[in-house]
Amino acid sequence: MYKERGGRGSGAKGEIGHVANSKRTQETLDKPKESRSSAPAPPNVAKCSDEESETDTEESNVSGSDEDDTCWISWFCNLRGNEFFCEVDEDYIQDDFNLCGLSNQIPYYDYALDLILDVESSLGDSFTEEQNELVESAAEMLYGLIHLRYILTTKGLAAMLEKYKNAEFGRCPRVYCCGQPCLPVGESDIPRQGTVKIYCPKCEDIYTPRSRFQESIDGAYFGTTFPHLFLMTNGPLKPQKSSQTYVPRVFGFKVHKP
Ligand SMILES: [Zn+2]
Repeated sequence: MYKERGGRGSGAKGEIGHVANSKRTQETLDKPKESRSSAPAPPNVAKCSDEESETDTEESNVSGSDEDDTCWISWFCNLRGNEFFCEVDEDYIQDDFNLCGLSNQIPYYDYALDLILDVESSLGDSFTEEQNELVESAAEMLYGLIHLRYILTTKGLAAMLEKYKNAEFGRCPRVYCCGQPCLPVGESDIPRQGTVKIYCPKCEDIYTPRSRFQESIDGAYFGTTFPHLFLMTNGPLKPQKSSQTYVPRVFGFKVHKP
C-alpha cells in the first residue's frame, strides 16, 4: 500500500510527504514540523520573493508552520486516491477509548500513532529506510481503521455529509439513477478483504469507483455499516428508489425470456 501511495503522490502533496519522509530517514526527528512545513513553502517563497520583501517571505513561512493544513492527516487525505477519506478529529484519535483493540492489529503501533498525530518521537535515529516505510504503511492502516470508527460518530457522519453534498464519492454510473451521488462502502469490516466500493442509495447497488487510485483503497476503512447508518441518520437525503428499469428490445419487441 505504501508504495502505491508513494507512486500516487507525484503531485505537490506527494512531494511534501516524500521530503518529510526522507528527512525522517536521514535525520533525527528533531524538527519534523519544520521540515514538513518548509517543504510546501518553496512555491510560495519563489512567488513572494518575486513580488514581496524577504520579511514577508519569512512571515509566510512562520504562519505556514502554525497552520494545520500541513499535518499528516490533511496531507494523507489530500493524496490522490484518498478523496473518500474525511479528516478525523485529532481529539478523537487522542482518546484511547476510541482506539481500543487497534494496537494488536497494527505493527509499529506507537510510531504509527505518533506519525498520524505529528508527535515528535525518537523514531528515525535507529530506523532503516525499510522500517520507516513500514511505519508509514502502518500509519495508513491505523488511520483507515480509526476512520472506519470515526465515520459512524456524529462528527464523522457530519464530515461525510459535507462530502456527499459535493458528490465527492462519485455518482452512480447507472443511466436511470440520473447521476445520483454515491457513498463509500466496504464489503467487509476486516482489512485486506476487498477494496472500497460506492453504494448508490437509489438503485441500492454497489459499483467500483471510477478512479483507479480510489480502486486500490481498502474497503475496511469505510466498512459495511457506514452508508446505511448515514442514510438512516440523514433520512431526508435518501432518494426514492429507482422505478425505471431497462427493457431489452429487438425490433421494438421485448425479448422473450424462457
Ligand atoms: Zn444507482
